Amino acid sequence: MKKTLIALHFSLGLISSNAYAADVIVNCGATVDVEKQTITGPRRFEITDGRISAVNGSSTATKTIDLSDSTCLPGLIDMHVHLTSQSSPRSYIEGFTLNTADYAFRAVKYAQVTLDAGFTTVRNLGDDGTITKSLRSAIAQGHAQGPRIFTSGKSLATTGGHADPTNGHRADLMGDPHAKDGVINGVAEARKAVRQRYKEGADLIKITATGGVLSTAKSGQNPQFMDDELEAIMAAAKDYGFKVAAHAHGAEGMKRAIKAGINSIEHGTLMDDETRKLMKKHGTYLVPTILAGEFVAEKAKIDGYFPEIVRPKAAAIGPQLKANFSKAVEAGVKIAFGTDSGVSNHGDNAQEFKLMVDNGMTAMQAITSATVSAADLLGETDNLGSLSVGKYGDIVAVKGNPLENIQLLENISFVMKGGEVIKAK
Ligand SMILES: [Zn+2]
Repeated sequence: MKKTLIALHFSLGLISSNAYAADVIVNCGATVDVEKQTITGPRRFEITDGRISAVNGSSTATKTIDLSDSTCLPGLIDMHVHLTSQSSPRSYIEGFTLNTADYAFRAVKYAQVTLDAGFTTVRNLGDDGTITKSLRSAIAQGHAQGPRIFTSGKSLATTGGHADPTNGHRADLMGDPHAKDGVINGVAEARKAVRQRYKEGADLIKITATGGVLSTAKSGQNPQFMDDELEAIMAAAKDYGFKVAAHAHGAEGMKRAIKAGINSIEHGTLMDDETRKLMKKHGTYLVPTILAGEFVAEKAKIDGYFPEIVRPKAAAIGPQLKANFSKAVEAGVKIAFGTDSGVSNHGDNAQEFKLMVDNGMTAMQAITSATVSAADLLGETDNLGSLSVGKYGDIVAVKGNPLENIQLLENISFVMKGGEVIKAK
């Protein structure tokens, strides 16, 4: 397509021989420059072959998009979603009544609303092991529309731990899941579980370092891996170039995981001073998921929404996550944006920004966590996280200045992903 255009321009004598034609030009009235941590005046982005080929350049293009009334930002990144499900009072029983394909069709819709909300990249932390990988391919091949996906596949748990897929089942349905199913005990299974994720096509590893709020188990915070298991996971992950994300609510499980070298703590609910110090020392990211805490605390008020064993854990976590976030910001812990969407509704991801600003971050810090910092944690700073030459043409826009009103991000008016316009209104 581009070659034809250039040939056409040559024949009409429109451009000189050393110029080239971009595919599309985006004219932004203002831009949040996340690298320089400032908001700029008008910028002109040239996109060629899905990537930003020039900023304020002078190439021609057949298509120009006028966003002179808008503020542009890099495509937003949510580092903790579950695209295959969305919480409802039926969630637990549906585990027994729905087929994989039922979840897959839902995931297609959830991916679309996530992208429409301005999230051009997500990290999916836990599914059945197949759906998100297939969705990732379907999106990349143009069969479905959604964000770029980095998926962990099935989370790794220990027997009875958060993400043991048979937790809470009656005895004859519990079976005895193993490494293949994401449940490990001991060093050999820890290694095998990581290698199995490699075999299945995962992009990273997710472990559940402590109990969890929504699993049908008593403790939401006990440590669930031993040091030798964590070390084995990390050593195997290193062999395959995997980063490792650790779900954790209790401090002991966090400390073990951080010392073993995991890359991010998800939630971090009951973090103590020692844990914050360890995170700073190891450069570990916190992915705060405040929105999930708000959502489940609200739903815990409704009779029957959660099983009774889950309800008190859900009721307690909202304020705990907010308090923990404030302390982490104050202590200077590295933070990457993440919502746990799939607990809360997909497409509401940007509501996390206001919660971050209400609890201690500046608007610029919150936006940075969903762009520059998220790209860093993904290991994708060459491709994602800012509107610089060479990176993907992932651009979103809002009407007004999001540094003055962070909630503008809840109403994204323009979404471009890889140079393709997804939404324009
Ligand atoms: Zn999660």
